[in-house]
Amino acid sequence: MCVDLHIHSIYSDGTAFPSELVKMAVDSGLRGISLTDHDTVDGIDEVIKHGKKNHIEVISGLEISVIHREFSLHILGYGINHHHTGLTDWLAKLQHGRTSRNELIIEKLQQLGLDVTNDELISLSRPGQTGRPHIARLLMDKGVVKTTNDAFKLYLRKGAPAWASRFAYSASQSIEMIHKAGGIAVLAHPGQIASSLKCLPLLIGELVERGLDGIEIYYPGHSDTVKKDLRKLAGKYNLVVTGGSDYHGTNKTYTKMAGIRNGFCPPDDILDHLLEKINALQKQ
Ligand code: AMP
Ligand code: ZN
Ligand code: FE
Ligand code: FE
Repeated sequence: MCVDLHIHSIYSDGTAFPSELVKMAVDSGLRGISLTDHDTVDGIDEVIKHGKKNHIEVISGLEISVIHREFSLHILGYGINHHHTGLTDWLAKLQHGRTSRNELIIEKLQQLGLDVTNDELISLSRPGQTGRPHIARLLMDKGVVKTTNDAFKLYLRKGAPAWASRFAYSASQSIEMIHKAGGIAVLAHPGQIASSLKCLPLLIGELVERGLDGIEIYYPGHSDTVKKDLRKLAGKYNLVVTGGSDYHGTNKTYTKMAGIRNGFCPPDDILDHLLEKINALQKQ
């Protein structure tokens, strides 16, 4: 059977509610899923509740944007206690950083002569965290750009006229927080970090020194060569292997949820290994 351990909901920049995601996962014949929203755990209770009703395994998760050297990386946290107040307080700082960054981007867009407001952005991204994909959607709704990609290229990507930075924790701080909340830390989509994969052995080695527990190998953008290289690194450092689609609903129409029919099937033994690793950590 397949699992999908990397999914986004309306609580970050996906478009489906957790209940809808569970239904899709059941329809896709998945054994288990993890909701890994950006910088928030708000959707997890709902996924757990609907997962139980539908007899599908759910593991708690989140995806944190972190800084390590010159890299902006995504670290997945699995098996966390999502009610851990240390974690939720820690996440609040990231969420405030998003709010101020979004206001800055909107101001910059206004200075460029575009008719967009922060209130419009907030109502478009309700009830979840607001990210640049929402700003891209606002620009599309207003007819300023045709595609999300154009919105990023012309306005939102680093170096573009409306780009603004936001607060981020370091990789070490994030791995440490995930551990404190009882979870394990996994590097998301390593194949996407840099155009050249040459830096990966060094980068992953450094993250392992900082406590990294796993890497995401099964990912739609990873070629067989990338997967092979990552497997070698996982073996070298005894890392747990995970995988998922990074499904974002209609915000990224080119990505589907995992499933045999969709031609992308992270095998379900990764879930068993992940649970073993989490249990081992929690016993320590
Ligand atoms: P944020 O978390 O608000 O900084 O937004 C980052 C998110 O924007 C990433 O997780 C991607 O899903 C999305 N993103 C980044 N670059 C692009 C792009 N060129 N086209 C579409 N989506 C993008
Ligand atoms: Zn996203
Ligand atoms: Fe990501
Ligand atoms: Fe993601």
